[in-house]
Amino acid sequence: MQTNLQENLLKTPQGQEANSILRSCVHCGFCTATCPTYQLLGDELDSPRGRIYLIKQVLEGEPVTDKTRSHLDRCLTCRSCETTCPSGVKYGRLIDIGRDLVEKQTSRNLTEGFTRLALRKIIPYPQRFKFLLSLGNIFKPVLPSVLKDKIPGIEPAAEWPDINLPSNNHSRKMLILSGCVQQTTHAQTNVSTANVLNKLGIELIQQNEIKCCGAVSHHLSAPNEAIKTIKHNIDTWWHHVNNGIEAIIVTASGCSVMLKDYAHLLENDENYALKAKKISELAKDISEVIASENLPVNKSNNSKPTVSFHSPCTLQHGMQLNGVVEKILSGAGYKLTQVKDAHLCCGSAGTYSILQPRLSKKLLINKISALQKNRPDIIATANIGCQMHLSTKSDKPVKHWIELVEMAIC
Ligand code: SF4
Ligand code: SF4
Repeated sequence: MQTNLQENLLKTPQGQEANSILRSCVHCGFCTATCPTYQLLGDELDSPRGRIYLIKQVLEGEPVTDKTRSHLDRCLTCRSCETTCPSGVKYGRLIDIGRDLVEKQTSRNLTEGFTRLALRKIIPYPQRFKFLLSLGNIFKPVLPSVLKDKIPGIEPAAEWPDINLPSNNHSRKMLILSGCVQQTTHAQTNVSTANVLNKLGIELIQQNEIKCCGAVSHHLSAPNEAIKTIKHNIDTWWHHVNNGIEAIIVTASGCSVMLKDYAHLLENDENYALKAKKISELAKDISEVIASENLPVNKSNNSKPTVSFHSPCTLQHGMQLNGVVEKILSGAGYKLTQVKDAHLCCGSAGTYSILQPRLSKKLLINKISALQKNRPDIIATANIGCQMHLSTKSDKPVKHWIELVEMAIC
């Protein structure tokens, strides 16, 4: 694609990156076939190709309107289009750059602005999140069903404010990102992870002062806030890195992909570029770690439940780890069902289910129908956002897959 970006933008690293991405798109439209929002809305401007064109216009200095912003807001950032694109267009990077520019050139109404600010100031802070969740659970019986459905319970096992993982002493040591929402609603995920790794001779170290990976601020167009969180995380982890930690494990795939992106986000920071690169190299989704180990599967237990696995977009498109968890679960003796349109997003997509409820609900209904079609006993997934979102409509329990692995090993 030919481009004619504004001179001032071409002098910035973001402008240069956007220019190179735009030039790699040949406008073929293959990506439209796998874009969830294009499938639902049928509008070219709600397709990857349409959004690429909109961002090109913004970068070339065309007027930016609320309509432009709406089309970018409706993108799930699921990156299904990246998996499909034969030209390797880095759409995920381009939409981040486009959103930042559009956010600066438009203003949101009070409700939208407040909602986005509230999400940034609540979700990454477990104490605030837990407080609001407790209130929500108290008033749940009198809330309208549209709100009631969105309030998850609080896991009884969750101790507050910090979850103490089972501690075991092994020479192999890995760090774990505690996570923000997951610690409050599904604390069992990290406990199961520690138990499985213990069987593999790996000790998990948790730094309770680190909660959020920075993804919430990053995806709500607050880049400076995200960078502040990332630098705090790097500084807090750094002495463990110097001590030779083997990996930094993440159990929510949405956060895994974010940690792997630290290198890119800080590549132009003279003080942090090298450290961020090292953190990204050490960052591992839990599926990558388990896939490279020999699981001690308990062969005597043959009657395992049937599982439908929902592969989060961050796992299959963001990190290109499609099929890895499915292979682990099959190896652990679970029978997996076929899931139609497994490449499509469930509609959770970070804060998307709150900011775009209508589209999110349609995607959720389609996903639940596909997951339940072959009558599984359990639905499994790999990201806390998807887990909570699917739980609001599923008749079956929705678990993190590592809990199933814990049940299958001896
Ligand atoms: S992003 Fe890729 S698939 Fe989509 S129009 Fe551009 S080159 Fe084609
Ligand atoms: S990221 Fe997902 S929703 Fe956004 S354009 Fe690509 S396929 Fe469509």
